[in-house]
Amino acid sequence: MRVVQGLIRVALVVLLASPGSAVAEDFPSHQITMVVPFSAGGPTDAMARIMSERMRVTLGQSFVIENVTGAGGSLGVGRVVRAAPDGYTVSIGHLGTHVANGAVYKLGYDLVTDLAPVVLLPSNPMVIVSRNNIPAKTLPELLAWLKAKPTPPIAGTAGAGSGSHIAGLYFESVTGIKLEFVPYRGTAPAMNDLVAGQIDLMIDQTSNSIAQVRAGTIRAYAVTDAKRVDSASDIPTTDEAGLPGFHMTLWSGLWVPKDTPGEIVARLNAAAVEAMGDPVVRQKFEQLGLEMPDQNQLSPEALGAWQKSEIAKWWPMLKAADIKMD
Ligand code: ASP
Repeated sequence: MRVVQGLIRVALVVLLASPGSAVAEDFPSHQITMVVPFSAGGPTDAMARIMSERMRVTLGQSFVIENVTGAGGSLGVGRVVRAAPDGYTVSIGHLGTHVANGAVYKLGYDLVTDLAPVVLLPSNPMVIVSRNNIPAKTLPELLAWLKAKPTPPIAGTAGAGSGSHIAGLYFESVTGIKLEFVPYRGTAPAMNDLVAGQIDLMIDQTSNSIAQVRAGTIRAYAVTDAKRVDSASDIPTTDEAGLPGFHMTLWSGLWVPKDTPGEIVARLNAAAVEAMGDPVVRQKFEQLGLEMPDQNQLSPEALGAWQKSEIAKWWPMLKAADIKMD
């Protein structure tokens, strides 16, 4: 008995003195890197900056945003998979990077087992937008113009497997219109080319397009949701505009490398949840047309379960599609 008690005591001392728990207790003691897998100035970058600015207040340490772009965001996610599991390298991504890419690329990592989920972030309907100098003004006119075009319409994307690409594939399957996808390192540079009239259209995250639509530099036809976006209520829904049922919402999230201690994940989760509860942050997201996740979806486990269910939903369709990689 005494031997057993002694062993338990030794085990407890070892456990309490283990570097893992000491590190977790001090977390964070220095700057945290948030890896954005797309270009600066794009929708994922904007979300990362809004979130990290407020998470800094809770955690008492600043964040640095690292834009690791290319291959539909899969390079940036890989950078986090290979980082130390200490909470100092965080992956921000979405349905494209953390679900679709597993079906599109030979990743060299597993999106579920090589990462630990932290929190679900706001989601965003997409918006069908075109360059200004085409004759169409409504969605039926746009569809007619795209169909009649002698050469395939050019659609900008943030790379194979990105949100704008998945939305474009979905659009092709619903309308029967064949698009020529041009991959960029994010929808920020794709937007520059759309404004300049170099590409024809994009099915973009609302948060990325909204400012240009308001400025009148591109034309919006419909948001891919059952209800209009509050901050852009003059844009009809796809149901209203003539593509009933063409709905797509791009959700985002935060992850850290697998084996990151649970207390560190909990601390990052709490900071992110606090940020999303802040009225100033909520207002910024609302202006971008973003929708906050439900309260009961905010645990790391909820994101893990959601990601797995999205993999089950999207992979068969993506694997069946003949997706060309950039
Ligand atoms: N989220 C990407 C970006 O920030 C765009 C996309 O996935 O379509 O550029």
